[in-house]
Amino acid sequence: MTPTTEQLYSLLLRRGAMPLVERAQRTPVSGPLAALERSQWWSLEQLQALQLEKLRRLTAHSFAQSPLYGRLWREAGVRPEEIRGLEDLRRLPVVNKATLRAAFPDQVLARDADRAELIPYTSSGSTGEPFRFTMTRAEKGLRWAVMFRCWAWAGLRQGVRYVNLMGEHAHGSLQGGARQSLEQRLTQMLHIPAFAVHDERLDDVIEQIVRYRPRLLRSYPATAHRLALALAQRQIDLPLAAVLTTGEVLHPFQRAAIEAQFRCQVFDAYGGDGMDVAFQCGHSTGYHINAEAVLVEVLDEAGQPAPPGQEGQIVLTNLNNLAMPFVRYAIGDLGSLSGEQCPCGRGLPLLGHVAGRSSDQLTLPSGRALLMWFFTTLFRQTPGIDAFQVRQTAPDRIVISLAPGRDFGHLPANGQGAAGGAQRLGAFVGAEQALAYLRERIEGEVRGEAVVELLLVPQIPSGPAGKRRFFIAEWQESGQEVRLFPNSRTSSEETP
Ligand SMILES: [Zn+2]
Repeated sequence: MTPTTEQLYSLLLRRGAMPLVERAQRTPVSGPLAALERSQWWSLEQLQALQLEKLRRLTAHSFAQSPLYGRLWREAGVRPEEIRGLEDLRRLPVVNKATLRAAFPDQVLARDADRAELIPYTSSGSTGEPFRFTMTRAEKGLRWAVMFRCWAWAGLRQGVRYVNLMGEHAHGSLQGGARQSLEQRLTQMLHIPAFAVHDERLDDVIEQIVRYRPRLLRSYPATAHRLALALAQRQIDLPLAAVLTTGEVLHPFQRAAIEAQFRCQVFDAYGGDGMDVAFQCGHSTGYHINAEAVLVEVLDEAGQPAPPGQEGQIVLTNLNNLAMPFVRYAIGDLGSLSGEQCPCGRGLPLLGHVAGRSSDQLTLPSGRALLMWFFTTLFRQTPGIDAFQVRQTAPDRIVISLAPGRDFGHLPANGQGAAGGAQRLGAFVGAEQALAYLRERIEGEVRGEAVVELLLVPQIPSGPAGKRRFFIAEWQESGQEVRLFPNSRTSSEETP
């Protein structure tokens, strides 16, 4: 479709089909979307005033209606009327996934929420344990409005043909059959389970996508990266308007390969458990926080606000979801706030970066941390590594699986930093020597504290919902659960 027909189609959809669908599904989207399109240009002060208004409504409601929050706040000696400014939020206790899981449904859901009206969600916990939550149709509409606003930043409007390469059960109970989902009506979506890109269905998937002629791809980073490499190998050209990634940390080597193959920009999103937290607008490396919908705090190890630029625990408050409140929810990710203003002029504050799960580091027996960045950088610079996974199977044992690609066996070019994603091949030494090179680099970092095992595998197995994890501290994940701050695991993506 030419851009003009696309715009026309999207206009028709907004004026015509969309209001009908919204009425039929009792899920208002266009009204909230129009409001969000205005408020994104507000000043920070205006946005904060709106946040405070919503926060006060949320805390009063949660205290009165949710047994869990009522109890926790009484124990902490805080009453909702004491929330007079945004900073008063800090007086409330932090909850995490374990807290909410234990309280779901009766102890956390608002008493006044009509159970029959609530939409059930399950997020795909990478460790296998699903996390259940819920929201009303109206609250779901607010999520869609937020998402549509952010898609517009990527130059895409409703009605644009896109491929949704996400989890197997990404669409809840509305998916399939005669009952076409709201998502599919509001958008022109081809849904393909992310799993299929990583198994023997890959060629079928490619054929399906090429035939569909999408303008946009929405995917987990690892899945989009895998698809980009597969298309390059098959010399298939599929230029897109944008690729939207979400659900996992997007690594620089993935962004570079995806942007090169699809000849477009990657717009990364961060969210999870019903919250579309932050999106990239394309003008800066930061992520605009959807401040009308979510309050983001970044806390240091003492639980105090971390200054801009300093990494800490991301703690979220969902300002829209009254049916199942998330108030000061430590989602289990690390990130930083940015003190900078985006050149695009939007007043929405920026999240500087999302470093991923708090557990995305391995702790060596001495207590020294081995950051995933060491591995992502090494594997980006080494030619021919399509995918990898690092597992710490015991405190002193690290098993690294590598899925080799076409160029495996080359050393990195001298002194290269893979600038701009263009990877230069160094000398060809063969697979064995390439492995020896990697082993030497990794052992240099591990310094004798653990045995390092390197495996070449055809592909990296995916977790639930097709998501892939780069880093797994297996010995830490069996057992400990209810610690409030460290290692509270989360998934981050489910389609609203
Ligand atoms: Zn911006």
